[in-house]
Amino acid sequence: MTVIRDVEIETYLQDLARPVFLAAGLNPASVRMVIVRDSTLNAYVAGGMNIFLHTALLRSTDDAEQLLGVIAHETGHIAGGHLTRGTAAMKNASLQAILSMVLGVGAAIASGNPNAGAAVITGGQQIAQRSILSFSRAQEGAADAAGMSFLDRTRMTSRGLKEFLEKLGNQELLPVDRQVEYARTHPLTQDRINTVRRHVERSPWAKARLPKAMKERHARMKAKLLGYLQPDAALLRYGEKDSRVNARYARAIALYRKSDMQKALSLLDGLLAEEPDNPWFLELKGQILFESGRVREAIAPYRRVVELVPKAGLLQAAYGHVLLETHDPALVDEAILYLEQSLKTEPHVPATWRFLATAWGEKNEKGLVAYGLAEEALAKAENVTARRLAARAIKLLPKGSPYILRAQDVIKQARENEDDR
Ligand SMILES: [Zn+2]
Repeated sequence: MTVIRDVEIETYLQDLARPVFLAAGLNPASVRMVIVRDSTLNAYVAGGMNIFLHTALLRSTDDAEQLLGVIAHETGHIAGGHLTRGTAAMKNASLQAILSMVLGVGAAIASGNPNAGAAVITGGQQIAQRSILSFSRAQEGAADAAGMSFLDRTRMTSRGLKEFLEKLGNQELLPVDRQVEYARTHPLTQDRINTVRRHVERSPWAKARLPKAMKERHARMKAKLLGYLQPDAALLRYGEKDSRVNARYARAIALYRKSDMQKALSLLDGLLAEEPDNPWFLELKGQILFESGRVREAIAPYRRVVELVPKAGLLQAAYGHVLLETHDPALVDEAILYLEQSLKTEPHVPATWRFLATAWGEKNEKGLVAYGLAEEALAKAENVTARRLAARAIKLLPKGSPYILRAQDVIKQARENEDDR
């Protein structure tokens, strides 16, 4: 299972889904939407309140309303408590391991390698198989009904769900091996489609539309995914004469993926001339500069990104990493500040702990270095190493340091993880 972490897409998904989660009585902050790089069309709920969305599904939705329909249906499964078996099947530790793999377009902090598009998580397949349960037909009907009532409550159309199900219905025409996984996990019947159709016909919100900005963000998500996942196809689809913003964005990403950094940068500069405060254009520019070895020049775009999107841990970590890679002693404190901020929202990213340990090393804080490496090991589920490093940190840290308690927590957590095996 390969998870893509991308703040632009994740933020879009959260903004799109928030009203539906609220209508379902769920705290939006506690539902996580996970983007899985996978060419089968599927979406499912696993490990409690986590909605997994395959990239193929995201790309197959024609508009934001269709994607919202899928999310509303999955939310129906969560709210309906259809998941008790699934919750037990996916342990939190495994889920954290999956989510801590920082991949995809925002991969700068993972490796600094532009080709690091994929990493396979050991055991991920097994986790997926055990925890993705197929729902019964009754549960499917209940999830549709719940999803549509959430949409009604937000005065939003269920037309997208209807269109998505119809699209799946047409899949029956495809050869078996190309039929969609979604229909396997969520049994599709004509009865389901008819019920949703009737609901849309009667709904006073049938003609409601999501705001134009949401429509645009959906199109950008699709352009980004195509540029990232299939750069050659993106360059074919969006020719050099195509001057639309999304076309140029997809091209810039595709060129970056093909290591044509100069062309990618010149496209981005054009886009930034039109949208100077677009954090995602700035993020990509910073990433390209950084990966081209132009570390100093990457500082300005990243600094603007963390101003524009202040609470995104992945972006803070990327910025902290850039500052650190300048090897300028004057920038170490700022690097530490952003890396620590990043951990408040993204505490399980091993790379961030490694960067922080490196930064503390620059300041000759040996106890903190050991502590940071202990946390890195813990995040990677290397429990024995984590305990050893944390014990060393406790020895090296000055008496009364607040990090001693945190090192003790690492030991405790590592022991618990070992017991879980
Ligand atoms: Zn379902």
